[in-house]
Amino acid sequence: MTTDFKLLARDGVARRGVLNTAHGPVNTPAFMPVGTQATVKGMLPESVAATGAEILLGNTYHLMLRPGAERVAHLGGLHRFMNWSGPILTDSGGFQVMSLSGLRSLDDDGVTFRSHLDGSSHRLTPERSIEIQNCLDADITMCFDECTPWPATEAQAAHSMRLSMRWARRCREAFVDRPGYGLFGIVQGSVYPALRAESAAALTALGFDGYAVGGLAVGEGQELMLQTLDSTVPLLPTDRPRYLMGVGRPSDIVAAVRRGIDMFDCVMPTRSGRTGQGFTRRGTVNIRNARHADDPRPLDSECRCPACRSYGRAYLHHLFRANEMLGPILLTWHNLAYFQDLMAGLRDAIEAGRLADFAAAFEHREAEGDLESLVAVDAADDEPVERPDRGPDRGQGRSQNRNHNHTRNQDRDDD
Ligand SMILES: [Zn+2]
Repeated sequence: MTTDFKLLARDGVARRGVLNTAHGPVNTPAFMPVGTQATVKGMLPESVAATGAEILLGNTYHLMLRPGAERVAHLGGLHRFMNWSGPILTDSGGFQVMSLSGLRSLDDDGVTFRSHLDGSSHRLTPERSIEIQNCLDADITMCFDECTPWPATEAQAAHSMRLSMRWARRCREAFVDRPGYGLFGIVQGSVYPALRAESAAALTALGFDGYAVGGLAVGEGQELMLQTLDSTVPLLPTDRPRYLMGVGRPSDIVAAVRRGIDMFDCVMPTRSGRTGQGFTRRGTVNIRNARHADDPRPLDSECRCPACRSYGRAYLHHLFRANEMLGPILLTWHNLAYFQDLMAGLRDAIEAGRLADFAAAFEHREAEGDLESLVAVDAADDEPVERPDRGPDRGQGRSQNRNHNHTRNQDRDDD
């Protein structure tokens, strides 16, 4: 055990804690912005920090192919390379090997694959993945595993999970303990409670600095995901952080925190920010929508980010319509700030013992949606050609797009 995790408060099974790493503390529950290629797209590191983010996620697969793990090590590690002085968690590369690379062959020892960049041949094993993450100087290293595809039969999921558990043992043996640096195991087993229990038992017997729940947000939908958390989280040690990989939508995060999850990552705030989707305290808003063209109000009147403090919806709408790069930059900044504000709200609520009230208020406002502005601009909007464009706002992320968004490539991916 080389990273220190302190629990500060509990509300039911929800936890408020601090994970101390070599590059500083992480207040939990925490959301990790995704910095796939040694950058959170469109954001300066100091801007990311200004949103309240304390830890970033980096992608082993991308960085091993370009610029190369050993090159990053020679340049002083990923923190210095990308000018981020805070903690970094790296994934193991396993997920992208399966989802991005071309020809690949999986055997009990590891995976051989071709780069999606130039077709060159590479091999990842548990030992090499740990070595790469060490080159990157990751504060939190993830075990190399196979993210079980969805859907999978119980037999397929068992085979895949047991392979990942054999690899977890090899990762544990390959990882060199250093103060402030931790190794997390990953519970697999798809949506089968008995397999999740077997996986959790195998990992806790080995002993890790934290425990991730993997193989979710791959298309199973929120209900099955939460059922799986209900059966899995109680099996994990209470004194170690728990990380739900690749999740998720704000409603997923609130629901998972209530079930005892401490850490999250997702491409959603950054990727959606680049395509014009904003997350607000009243649900999701498509800023490209014609109803914003004359609206001088901020995207989210309660948000403290630069996009909301200094610019109106009409300007953001214009930037996206004109394909100006400032549009994605401002909306990415806003979305990251929204996610961090949500986490701060959850942490405060747990400390105050009023998480249930917080969750109820969150659900109420998300369900209510951005209706106020729909009503306000309805009369003025006389451009029939734009009307089909008005649709995407109305679902507000409650029922619409739920399953659509729980796809392998949207939730659990690199960015
Ligand atoms: Zn904002």
